[in-house]
Formats: sequence, structure tokens, C-alpha cells
Amino acid sequence: MRAALIVILIVASIAFGSQAAQSQTGSASAMQHVTLKWLGTAGWEIQIGQTRILIDPFLTRQQAVASEEWKTDEEAVLRVISGGDYIFAGHSHADHIGDIPFIAKRFGAKILGSRTTVNLSLSAGVDKAQLTTISGGEKLDFKDFSVQVIKSQHGILTRDGQKRQPRSAEITRPLSGPIFGKHFVEGGSYLYYFTFGKLSLLHQSTGNFIEENLQGLEPDIAILAENGNYNWTEALKILRPKTVVVHHYDDWRVPLSSGMTAAVRRRAQRLEKDVKALDRNIKVIIPEFLQTITLE
Ligand SMILES: [Zn+2]
Repeated sequence: MRAALIVILIVASIAFGSQAAQSQTGSASAMQHVTLKWLGTAGWEIQIGQTRILIDPFLTRQQAVASEEWKTDEEAVLRVISGGDYIFAGHSHADHIGDIPFIAKRFGAKILGSRTTVNLSLSAGVDKAQLTTISGGEKLDFKDFSVQVIKSQHGILTRDGQKRQPRSAEITRPLSGPIFGKHFVEGGSYLYYFTFGKLSLLHQSTGNFIEENLQGLEPDIAILAENGNYNWTEALKILRPKTVVVHHYDDWRVPLSSGMTAAVRRRAQRLEKDVKALDRNIKVIIPEFLQTITLE
């Protein structure tokens, strides 16, 4: 079912660390509102009622070096994240899960992710009771929302002029020592299809789909990961979202406080053009860092 949707851009809180608009909804009507905040990369904070959901939160914004022990920039995380009940992991590369163990330990959040995400979280000392392994096909009900897990595949990357899909390796058991950059393997890529009352929202962590897995979803909002190597047309024809939010278009190795250049924004505008070419009635949002979007 597709619900009527009004997207109000409450505030473009570009100022680093701003918590603006966090409490704009007011307690009486809070249950009707879903608030999304973009954390950069594929990261989102979703507030529904008293529940705070994080998806792929990555605030360290540094490359994981294969041969070096991974360190979360805890200060950078805590400037933006002040709590969390659930953390969903789209896939297990460092720019998606590198900060998840720290956040889970700090706030007691439950993690849902691939076997690789779960094993790396265990390696980092997250309590087993906080971890749920997903493998695609699950339909999970929570107090304020439900979520469907959909098997997907990683986006095709361009490295040194060559297009290639990252190898889909897995971490099959907890590590005996610390996490190094090389351990952040893809581990399978998943879409999350959230239902918040009448609203449906699809989160894509990496710019690719398994198109036959998209039939019948038709989300109100599709949060799509910019990828110039993916042909969006067929997937968008199946999904028919009312609103597309473009993410993972930023340069994730640069601190949020540095903002974005026009060249970086043009990556998102390319996807906007593809969407509009298909159906100009689809609303496209290209968010700024820490921008809050309220859905009702
Ligand atoms: Zn990735």
C-alpha cells in the first residue's frame, strides 16, 4: 500500500554537530512523524516515536588500511550520535560498519547485519545478545516499525580505470585478535524495506540491485546510493518510488565539517537526472550533511 506522503525539509543543519530539528515534532504528534537525518555515506538516523534506528552509521570517515588495526574515531562519532536502539548494516565494508561496534557498546544498541558484520562485532567485544544475523528474506516486527530484508549485490566500482565488483568474501567466525582494515569484506549486501505505519522506506547501501527481488515493493521513499556504473532505469520502473533520496555520493574520506564541493554534488545530480528522465513526478532530494527530513 502506498501512503500519501509529504516531505518537509525542516532544516538544512549543515553546521557540524548540530542537533537542530531533533525535537521539532513535539511529543503529542511524535508518533505520526518519522524523522530522517543523513549522517553522510549511507548513514541515517531514523527517529520514530521513542525509537532511534541507525543504518550504516559511519562518522570516522577514514580509509581502513588493510594492514593496520582499525580504530573508530570515537570523538567524531559522539559529535553526531547520542543514542541508538537498533543498528542495521547494509554490507560489511568499513564505511558501513566500521563504527558500529563502538556505537553498539556505547549505547547498548542491537545490531542486525550479515554473518560478517556479526562476527566482526563479536571480535570487537559486542555482547552476543545484541546481535542478529540476517541473510535476506526475513520479515521482522518491532514495536514502532517492521522491516523486510532483501538480498542485493554490491555496486560496481571503478578503480584505476577498471570497473569491477568487489569480491564477496565473508568472515565466518569471530577473529582471535583485533580487527584490521582487511577484515572489512563485503559479506553480502542487503536492502532494508522499512514500514512505519503507512509509510514505506527502502534503504540501499550500495548502488546495485538484484532486480527480481524488487517486485511488489513500491516504497514511498527510496534512499539510493549514487553509482555511475549502474543503469537505474529498470529498477526504478519496478520500484516506482514517490520520493528518491540520493546518498553515498559524498567523499567519505573527508570530515563532515569540510562540507562538499560542487563536483561532489554533481554525482548526486547525475542520478537525479536519471530519475527525472524516467518520471519527472518523482521527487528527488539531495541531502546535505546532517540534514533532517520529516515524513508524515
Ligand atoms: Zn561497499
